[in-house]
Amino acid sequence: MSHAIDTQLIHAGEESRIDGAIRMPIFQTAMFEHDDAPLRYIRYNNTPNQRVLNRKLAILEGAEDALVTGSGMAAITSAILSTVKPGDHFLAQKSLYGGTQKFILNLLADLNVTVSFFDADAPETWNAVLKRNTRAVYVESITNPLVQVCDLEQIIEFSQSNNLISLIDNTFASPYNYQAANAGFDYSLHSATKYLNGHSDVVAGVVIGKEELVQKAAKNLAQLGGALDPNSCFLLHRGLQTLALRMRQHNATAQSLSEFLYSHPKVLCTNYPGLSSHPQHERATRLFHGFGGMLSFELKGGIEAANNMITNLQIPVFAPSLGGVESLITRPVISSHSGLTPDELEASGIRDHLLRVSVGIEDAQDLIADFEKALQKV
Ligand code: PLP
Repeated sequence: MSHAIDTQLIHAGEESRIDGAIRMPIFQTAMFEHDDAPLRYIRYNNTPNQRVLNRKLAILEGAEDALVTGSGMAAITSAILSTVKPGDHFLAQKSLYGGTQKFILNLLADLNVTVSFFDADAPETWNAVLKRNTRAVYVESITNPLVQVCDLEQIIEFSQSNNLISLIDNTFASPYNYQAANAGFDYSLHSATKYLNGHSDVVAGVVIGKEELVQKAAKNLAQLGGALDPNSCFLLHRGLQTLALRMRQHNATAQSLSEFLYSHPKVLCTNYPGLSSHPQHERATRLFHGFGGMLSFELKGGIEAANNMITNLQIPVFAPSLGGVESLITRPVISSHSGLTPDELEASGIRDHLLRVSVGIEDAQDLIADFEKALQKV
C-alpha cells in the first residue's frame, strides 16, 4: 500500500536502523573497508547517508531511483550532460533559472551542442524548432522569477512521441506540489538548497527518474566530483521530513500575500499561479497540489519604488535564494539572473524593477501588515 507523502517523508527509505538509532547517524568517513560490494566512497554516492536520501527522494516522486548531489547545479549539469553529446541539439524553455541558462549558453555551446530556446507554452510552434539531431527538452515546473507554468502535459507527450529525453527543474513546486517524475518526465531535478531542505543552511541537489537515467547522471557526477558530503546529507534528511508541513504553510501564506498585492493600488502586476488572473491558473490548479511559496510583482513606481520597498520591509530579508522558512525578497536582475545580458533579460521578460518574494512560513497577517506598511512609504 502506498502511503501519503506526509508518511513517506518520515518513513520511506529508512530501511536499516544502525544499532537501533532512530536517526541515521552521520558517517563521517570518506571511504569504507573493502567487502564484496562495489567500492564505497563519498564521491561515488553510495554511502549510508546518501543512500537513505536517494531511496526516500525516489519514493517521494514515485520514481525508480534518485541521486543526491552537492548542489542544484550539480544535479542539473550531470543530468543534462547525460542527454547530449557533441553535435546534438537541445531544446530549452525561454526564461530559465539564470545559472541553468548560463550553463546552456556557455559550457553546452563549448561542447558543440546547439540550443534553441523555445516557447514552452505554445505547442503549435514546437515542430518548427525540432531538428533531426534534437535529443532533449528542458523546462521548469514553475519558472523563476515569473512563475509561469508551461504546457507540461504536452511537453511530456511531445518528448515521448519524438523520442526525446524530457528534463524538468521541479525546484519551485517541490515533490509536495508536483510529482514530476510520476507525471512522466524522464528527469526531475531539484535544487535541494530550497524547499527540500527548507532551512537555508545547506547547498544540495537531486536527480530523480528511471534507474538507468539516474545512473547515467551518477556516472557523470562521480567524474565531475559533485557529491553531497555526510553532514549536508544529515541536514537535508532532517529538513526534508517537515516538507509537507512547510509546503502547506508556504502555499497558504503565498496565496494570501499575492491576493493582497494584487488588489493594492500601488502594485502594477502580481505573478502567482494561485491567482485566478494568472494566465495558467487553470492548468496549475489541475496539475499541482498547491501553488508554492514563490511570487513576483512590479510596482507602479518602478525601480525607485522597488528599492524603497526592499528597504522598508521589516520581515522579509533582502537576500537571494528561496525556499527556506524565512521570507526573502530580491530583485532577480541583481541575483538569480545577474549573469544575463540586457537583451537576454528582455527576451526573458524580466524587468529591472521586478521584485521576487520567497514567502516563508511566518504568520500571513504579520507579513501582509508588513507589506502594507512598506507600500505606504513608496
Ligand atoms: N534551479 C532553480 C530554480 C534555482 O532557483 C536555483 C538556485 O537558485 C538552482 C536551480 C541552482 O541550485 P543551487 O544553488 O543549489 O546549485
